[in-house]
Amino acid sequence: MKPILFPLFFLLILSLSLFFIWRIVYARMRQETEGQETSRERFKSQQFSSENAYASRDKNNILLYHKIEDKWEWGITRQRISQFEKQMKFLYKQGYKLMRLDLSGQEKNFTNDFDSENKKIFLTFDDGYESVYTHAFPILEKFGFSATVFLITGWVGKKNLWDINWGKKFNHLSWSQIEELKKFGFNFGSHTVNHPDLTKLNGKEVEYELLNSKNMIEDRLGERVEFLSYPFGKYNRSVQRIAEDIGYKNAFTICSGPKKFSDPYALGRLGIYLFDSSLTLHIKLNQTPIFWIEDMKGRIINQFANGTTLFKSKPKYDFCLKSEKPKSIFVKKV
Ligand SMILES: [Zn+2]
Repeated sequence: MKPILFPLFFLLILSLSLFFIWRIVYARMRQETEGQETSRERFKSQQFSSENAYASRDKNNILLYHKIEDKWEWGITRQRISQFEKQMKFLYKQGYKLMRLDLSGQEKNFTNDFDSENKKIFLTFDDGYESVYTHAFPILEKFGFSATVFLITGWVGKKNLWDINWGKKFNHLSWSQIEELKKFGFNFGSHTVNHPDLTKLNGKEVEYELLNSKNMIEDRLGERVEFLSYPFGKYNRSVQRIAEDIGYKNAFTICSGPKKFSDPYALGRLGIYLFDSSLTLHIKLNQTPIFWIEDMKGRIINQFANGTTLFKSKPKYDFCLKSEKPKSIFVKKV
């Protein structure tokens, strides 16, 4: 790079960061006036049964990873393999137990378990990359951990052409790898069919993305899909309503500061990225006084990731193909 380009590059990064910070502050202000009301209404109107136990926690103890990969790429949502292993080892030594999201059996009682002796942490992976099988799984198996993987059903077994990553392509898990992970205690949620920004779709298109992905996973694996992860963490009230109507029990987004309560269809997760270490993981999980730095860092990274939505056009939906829709073995409300 020519020396003259360095200040220009620095200025570009600085102005982008300032723009994103402004967007975060603006979104926070709007959330103060609107979003909090939504959460409160929902909180009041629902008895928080075990089904909504994830929403009744005081602290955020759900981690979000993407790729566990040594191959270099422009994006920063990946973790290097050794970095991931160090973090898992650190958590194991601290006495934490990392597990999948689960609304059945013994794992029902999540409320404030974070502070209990059990030290439960829920581990999730978005996008369903092959590296979950090839790199993360052997490490997790060593420590007796499991996880929930959110799949983009239209891209299972394919390269990630849905993403903008300037040349580098990464494989997604195949169905046989998914089945193998299931045997070892992993479970799976929906990350839609095509990974679109759901807030830019109409109701019918959102329903297609949420219902077809759910049905596809249920049919392939023979187990109920209760969790949804919003692509890019983006949602609105209409998307939330459709998710609830279709039968999802919880829906997850990215980044969340400490909150006393939250919406079961907008549960935040702590994103772990390329620059994260065992120390920053500790800060995020324990929400120490400098947690706000990690929170802000995560929000800026997420805003950069949202850049994909500016370059990628909306998927084409052909509703004439309805007869090809997979039918779930489970009963649906819609
Ligand atoms: Zn994603």
